[in-house]
Amino acid sequence: MNFAPALLQALRQSAHVVVFSGAGMSAESGVPTFRDAQTGLWAQYDPTELATPEAFRRHPKRVWDWYAWRRELVARARPHAGHRAVAALERHVPQVTVVTQNVDGLHQEAGSRRVVELHGNLRRIVCARCRAVVPQTAWAPAGPEGVPRCPHCGGLLRPDVVWFGEPLPADAWRAAQQAMQTADVVLVVGTSGVVYPAAGLPLLARERGARLVEVNPTETALTPVVDDVLRGPAGEVLPALVRAAWGGEGNG
Ligand code: NAD
Ligand code: ZN
Repeated sequence: MNFAPALLQALRQSAHVVVFSGAGMSAESGVPTFRDAQTGLWAQYDPTELATPEAFRRHPKRVWDWYAWRRELVARARPHAGHRAVAALERHVPQVTVVTQNVDGLHQEAGSRRVVELHGNLRRIVCARCRAVVPQTAWAPAGPEGVPRCPHCGGLLRPDVVWFGEPLPADAWRAAQQAMQTADVVLVVGTSGVVYPAAGLPLLARERGARLVEVNPTETALTPVVDDVLRGPAGEVLPALVRAAWGGEGNG
């Protein structure tokens, strides 16, 4: 791959690089994006109709089972060369922040140390009523709804993710805004740029003079505002970019 010399120079001179990732970042690890075809049992459902508080109220078992299936997918998934390239940035750049919309924990598994999770984490289970985090060993048996219950208050358990229509965790949102405001370069990876408010974050960085770089095989809503467009899958583009900027393997 060929990269603009000005982009490589901007990366080498950066004091703070922010990686802003979406579901496409995990696609090559085998975690499907919402917009990819749902397979098998779940093909009949639109995920945007499963990942909502209303869906959980009306069909708690259906939503619980869908997330149980996604947790299994994620448990089998391993970070790919793109995740490792992001983690490797920390050896070259004084400050690196990953701001992710993903709920799978793959950036942390690859070794990234500062990860802001805007949409929570699938592996964490909380009580829908009292918000206690409940490890699987403490789940109380399911009642008639078919969903395990909270051992403290009897509320239904749910994944600690942000559903459509729910507010983002305030501390993560603050940390993400702060990161964007001090970024020199923002790598926007695998996000369609249509899920707000997260999609507005790169613009905040741009207002403060950051260089925006899109890594995505296809055009997105953010393409018109970025400085560099790198067309291709994250697992190929990111290691190549790190290699081009600093040499070595690009991932380790
Ligand atoms: P999205 O809006 O972030 O869009 C996915 C983007 O990834 C698309 O632009 C697509 O072109 C791009 N893409 C596909 N393959 C890629 C690759 N190999 N490399 C780089 N880019 C690639 O994601 P969505 O699926 O519309 O989901 C919306 C929200 O739902 C997410 O922001 C997230 O909160 C949640 N979600 C999380 C996960 C996860 O944790 N892995 C998976 C699905 C959905
Ligand atoms: Zn509870």
